[in-house]
Amino acid sequence: MEYKTLVEYYEKLERTSSKIEKAKILAELLKMCNPNDLERVIYLVQGSLYPKYMQIELGVATQLMIKVINKTIGVSREKIEEEFTKTGDLGLTVEKLIPSKKQVTLFKKSLTVEEVFENLRKVATASGEGAQEKKINILTSLLLMCTPKEAKYLVRTVLGELRVGVAEGIIRDAIVEAFFEKKKEVEEVIDYAWSILSDFAAVAKIAKESGLEGLKNIKIEFGRPIQVMLGEKAESIEEVVKEFGKVAAEWKYDGMRTLIMKKGNKILLFTRRQENVTAQFPDLVELCIKGIKAEECVVEGETIAVNPKTGDPLAFQVLSRRIHRKYEIEKMVEKIPIRIHLFDILYLNGEMLISKPLIERRKILENVIEKIEGKFELAKQIISDDVKEIEEFYQESLNAKQEGLMLKVLTSPYKFGRHVGGWYKIKPTMESLDLVIVGATWGEGSRANWLTSYELAVRDPDTGNFLRCGMMSTGLKEEEYEMMTEILKPLIIYEKGKEVKVRPKIVIEVKYQEIQKSPNYEAGYALRFPSFVRIRDDKGPEEADTIERLIELYKSQGKVG
Ligand code: AMP
Repeated sequence: MEYKTLVEYYEKLERTSSKIEKAKILAELLKMCNPNDLERVIYLVQGSLYPKYMQIELGVATQLMIKVINKTIGVSREKIEEEFTKTGDLGLTVEKLIPSKKQVTLFKKSLTVEEVFENLRKVATASGEGAQEKKINILTSLLLMCTPKEAKYLVRTVLGELRVGVAEGIIRDAIVEAFFEKKKEVEEVIDYAWSILSDFAAVAKIAKESGLEGLKNIKIEFGRPIQVMLGEKAESIEEVVKEFGKVAAEWKYDGMRTLIMKKGNKILLFTRRQENVTAQFPDLVELCIKGIKAEECVVEGETIAVNPKTGDPLAFQVLSRRIHRKYEIEKMVEKIPIRIHLFDILYLNGEMLISKPLIERRKILENVIEKIEGKFELAKQIISDDVKEIEEFYQESLNAKQEGLMLKVLTSPYKFGRHVGGWYKIKPTMESLDLVIVGATWGEGSRANWLTSYELAVRDPDTGNFLRCGMMSTGLKEEEYEMMTEILKPLIIYEKGKEVKVRPKIVIEVKYQEIQKSPNYEAGYALRFPSFVRIRDDKGPEEADTIERLIELYKSQGKVG
């Protein structure tokens, strides 16, 4: 396929905001693709080159791209930057500037999707000495072959800002539309396939080549993390027991969800957001090799940090220092030892176990695991319908500084994603805080005109200053982003890139999961997972919660019942 054709479709996608319309446009495009281009196009419309879990980014910064544009079209860097600051979109800038290109290649042949895609992959994977030079050369030769419109989208792709608004749901609908007579069953099967492969390019290829049966027979593959099952919040233990009778109550550990894939002597570890953390946890890899008896399987558990002297559990924030660590990993292994509590098994020696009831999966898990005291254990569990007994178990978990309980329905299969039923979280609800907005960030893609994340601050009554304590971007409905943008825009003091500082005027009520100590914020504390409740237009900034209140709530954590 010619890149020109893809670009025409980018334009069509960009022109409409209707999800149904976008899915139709994309379906038309997918139908035109040969099998190889199909995969490439699915990655490219998502603005990527690989499935997300591979964590391979193009790694091209705006300044480098400006250098490439300068080299290709001969316009000065100052002029490029001047244009760029007007729109904040380097794609538009290049589209506008390219007609003045000096080296007009008169008989140039058209670019293909294959050329763009394979060359961009080379840019993404270039490393070591001379990588920068290599990237510049590849990008320059691509850009030289582009028409202004192609250049616009090429540059946006390279910078990770394609802005055509194709979310996962739209790709799913487009695959249904392109390769099947639209039926509800197909949607479910595609969701299932995607939950297992986490890669729409792979799903589309199977849909095209082997149809519904092919998709239904997909199995978990070593190396591809699945979309893990999550719990729903329940109001009370009583409510869950009333509805389901006997449940499996498990401690909800305060750690890192860990998906373990084993094949022979090879182990891979993924987080719930599908980050590959195998390199960061060589100690856990070793435990898995010793503790998992099966040749090939996929199990899940929660990894927690423990005190190196006493073995007592430590808070998630301690463990988090290991999760993104790139250097001195061995040192961290010693400094912050870990323990895992396993709670599920999804796959064993070629067999998918997800449709088996929870209680059966737990038994299989117990047979597959060789416990290693204090290091490689099962999640603490009781099976009961006695509310009082479960309440006591809940208290035990909280006393051990864990988050609470997961109540699991005994007959429930493993279901991918959130809000799927089957697992219910019981944890203390925190008091909300009234905080002042002191900054914000412009959104991406279709939300580029909205301020979509907000810097929160508490008040210091002694100085009258506002001390930052977190960044919030969840809990708002679409129209609320718009409203917040309207309210905050007139308060902007200055802008740098996508970030803005605003006058501290607006107070909002914020929920959060936990307060952590943090050197990154002036308050010295940060909210974990802050989420929007409402605007407190009944309060001025001078009535916002204070730093003292934040510290008080921090200290009371873990004691709440
Ligand atoms: P939440 O983050 O509050 O939505 O809760 C879901 C998270 O609880 C999962 O992603 C796991 O990391 C964690 N978790 C801790 N203990 C368990 C358990 N026994 N069963 C399932 N999830 C657990």
